[in-house]
Amino acid sequence: MSVASREVHLVARPVGEPKPEDFAILDATVPDPGPGQVLVRNDWISVDPYMRGRMNDVKSYVAPFGLGEVMTGGAVGTVIESNADELPKGTAVRHFLGWREHAVLDASAAEVIDTDLAPAEAYLGVLGLTGLTAYAGLKRVAPVTEGETVFVSGAAGAVGSVAAQVARSLGAARVVGSAGGPEKARRIVEEFGYDAAIDYKAGDLAGQLAAAAPGGIDVYFDNVGGDHLRAALDSLRVHGRVAMCGAISQYNATEPVPGPDNLFLAVGKRLTLRGFLVGDHLDLAPEYARFAAALLSDGRLRNEATVVEGIDNAVEAFLGLLRGANTGKMLVRL
Ligand code: NAP
Repeated sequence: MSVASREVHLVARPVGEPKPEDFAILDATVPDPGPGQVLVRNDWISVDPYMRGRMNDVKSYVAPFGLGEVMTGGAVGTVIESNADELPKGTAVRHFLGWREHAVLDASAAEVIDTDLAPAEAYLGVLGLTGLTAYAGLKRVAPVTEGETVFVSGAAGAVGSVAAQVARSLGAARVVGSAGGPEKARRIVEEFGYDAAIDYKAGDLAGQLAAAAPGGIDVYFDNVGGDHLRAALDSLRVHGRVAMCGAISQYNATEPVPGPDNLFLAVGKRLTLRGFLVGDHLDLAPEYARFAAALLSDGRLRNEATVVEGIDNAVEAFLGLLRGANTGKMLVRL
């Protein structure tokens, strides 16, 4: 029994900020699953900042989306037809054929998720790769040690809303976050475990960081790049570390972006600036799952998400993510 589905295609390569016309939502017929395959009804799909890079036709660490083709991305769903004994009908799975309502995939490409432990959508956020990104960055890439001061940009987002609790569990004495606007600044302190908040949209980022961390910072978890990285370099103490996770302030840039003009501080302060991809740290996933499950159960971690309804609004969810419309993980419920 083939199934009618809808899926989101990239139809034009965005220049600068993506526009709704760069995408099309098209009808599709999903074939019957073959031997060893399952048909999955996607219940939630993930929209993520790195997808913006995949919309450009450039060589990168991940292949560009094909023009005129359905995009891919994280999704969780329910097996509704199965030709694989290990994934019977009704199994909740996570996989990578997002941006569509239904998907046929090899059983080996689907990962069973435990929805008794947490709701399915948590496996795209706090229990998913974004949570693991925060963990890998602070545990391994720019390791936090007892008594240190940590600064996290993008603190109200998917990665950032997990990072403060990770830093604390590693012994950080003070965790400062930055986010856009007073409401997000309030929430990162009251709900996500930050000691102090910077509203970067209020201006004077360097001054706000100096006030929030008067003795300087030891670790900077960089989700934003640009002026945030510049301010952090000023504030970092000798032997400070930077986990270079992302640079969302630059993803829509149409011209080459200059580097921070104070990069030479890295020499005198003997700083370590280290870029990373979460995919290189998947060995930490079981350890992170235990860590996150414990903190979720005692309320220190939250399954925080901004939810947009329906495939028709998936593009708007992605565009909103780039503009800061989300707190916690940006998700689309199908
Ligand atoms: P997210 O933080 O949930 O969403 C993106 C946020 O970026 C928005 O909510 C917005 O928050 C902020 N933003 C947008 N434009 C900005 C600007 N010009 N300056 C400052 N902030 C801006 O997304 P996420 O999934 O957690 O990803 C966060 C970062 O981590 C991204 O850079 C992403 O590429 C990176 N990442 C890297 C890896 C890796 O393996 N290296 C894995 C996952 C994610 P405000 O309202 O606060 O502006």
